[in-house]
Amino acid sequence: MTLIVQKFGGSSVADAESIKRVARRVVETRRAGKDVVVAVSAMGDTTDELLDLAGEVTPLPAPRELDMLLSSGERISMALLAMAIKSMGHEARSFTGSQAGMITDATHGSARIVDVTPVRLREALDEGAIVIVAGFQGFNRDTRDITTLGRGGSDTTAVALAAALGAEQCEIYTDVDGVFTSDPRVVPKARKLDRVTSEEMLELAASGAKVLHIRAVEYARRHGVTLHVRSSFTDTEGTIVYDPSRLPEGEAVEDSVLAGVAIDLSQAKITVVGVPDVPGVAAKIFKILAKSNINIDMIVQNVSAAATGLTDISFTLPKTDGEKALAALSGVQADIGFDSLQYDDEIGKLSLVGAAMRSASGVSAKLFEALYEAGINLEMISTSEIRISVVTRAESVHRAARAVHAAFELDGEEDAVVYAGTGR
Ligand code: ADP
Ligand code: ASP
Ligand code: MG
Repeated sequence: MTLIVQKFGGSSVADAESIKRVARRVVETRRAGKDVVVAVSAMGDTTDELLDLAGEVTPLPAPRELDMLLSSGERISMALLAMAIKSMGHEARSFTGSQAGMITDATHGSARIVDVTPVRLREALDEGAIVIVAGFQGFNRDTRDITTLGRGGSDTTAVALAAALGAEQCEIYTDVDGVFTSDPRVVPKARKLDRVTSEEMLELAASGAKVLHIRAVEYARRHGVTLHVRSSFTDTEGTIVYDPSRLPEGEAVEDSVLAGVAIDLSQAKITVVGVPDVPGVAAKIFKILAKSNINIDMIVQNVSAAATGLTDISFTLPKTDGEKALAALSGVQADIGFDSLQYDDEIGKLSLVGAAMRSASGVSAKLFEALYEAGINLEMISTSEIRISVVTRAESVHRAARAVHAAFELDGEEDAVVYAGTGR
C-alpha cells in the first residue's frame, strides 16, 4: 500500500473542532486506500505560551527542562487526534518522538535528527492503524534525554518520517494556501506559487519565511522528498517544493526571475566598536562566537580610520543568542582590545530570492531604487548567488516588503487569504 505523510501545524489543530476536522481529512485519505502517518504540532500558540510560562519562572530556563516542557505540547495534540480518529471507527495510535525512533544529537532546543528507527510505526501500520507522531521532538541515545528540533521543527519530523518510511508524498498542511511570494500577513497582494525549487525555498526559509522549517527543506533535498505545502482549511492545491535535478527529462519548468520577498524580525545587530585593524582580530571574534554555538548571519567591517587604525565590525545574529554573544565577547575584550559593544534589537531584514537572479542583471539596482523611493534607509547589505538581503529599522521592514514586492511586479490581483492563526 502506498503511504502518505501528512503534517498539521498548530493553527490547524488549535481547538477541539479543528482536531475533528483534521481527523476527517486523515480518515478520508485512509479511505482512499493509503497508509497514513501524521505528524502534529502543538495546539495553536501552546509552544509560545509554554515558553512565556518558563520565562515567568526563571529568565534562563535549563535547556533540558525546557525541552521536557515544550515537548508536552505535541503530546496533547497527538493523543487528541488519535482519539478523534478512533471515534470515527478507524484504528489510530499516537507515538512520542522517542517512541517513533526520532534519534537526534544532544543539542537541546535545536537538535538535529541523526537517525530514524520507526520500528513501532511499521508494526502499527502493519496492523492497519493510522499512525500519529508528535512533531518537533526527539531522543538522544547518549544522554537518554528528550530533545526538541527548534521552532517550526514539526515540518522536519514529517520529512524525516517520509524519508524513513519511503512515503509517496509528504503534505504540509498549514493556515495559508501554500508558499506565497511573501508573507500574506504582511503583503496582502502576495501570490501563491504553484511550484518553487528547493534551492529557492531554502533561501526563503533561511531568510525568515517561516512557512517551512529550514531543516525540513534541507532534509527533503538530501533525501529526495517532494513537499506539498497546502491549506488544511480547503481542498485547493498548494505549492510543490521540488528539486529540478530530480525531475524526469523533458519536465523542466521555466524559472521565473524571482521566487519572493522574505522578512525576518528575529535578528539583532552587535557592533564591536574600536577594533584594532590588524590580521587575526576578526578570527578571534568569530571563533569565540562559534565556540558559544552562535549563528552569525551578515557581517560588515568598516574601513578603519587612518588616524587611529581602529575599525568597527558589525554582525547580525538571532535575538535569542544576544545575551550569550555579549557575554562571550566581553570575556575577550582585554585580549582583543576593542573599545565597547553596541547591541541593537530593533532591526529588520528583507531578502529578495530567486534562482534566475544568477543570469538577470539590474536586480540590486531596482531593489535599492524601490527602497529609496519608499524612503527606507539601508544599514547593511549582503548577497548570495540567488538572494539579496538588506537590514533596515524594524519598524520599516513591512513597508519595505510591500514596496519591493510591488516594484518587482509580484503583486497578485486579489488579496491572499489567511485562514487561521495569530501569526505569532
Ligand atoms: P504552522 O502552524 O502550520 O506550522 P506557521 O505559522 O509555522 O504555520 O507557518 C505558516 C505562516 O507562515 C503563514 O500563516 C504566514 O503568515 C507565514 N509565512 C511567512 N512567509 C510566507 C510565505 N512566503 N508563504 C506563505 N506563508 C508565509
Ligand atoms: N510547536 C513547535 C513550535 O511552535 C513546533 C512546530 O509547530 O513545528 O515551534
Ligand atoms: Mg510551522
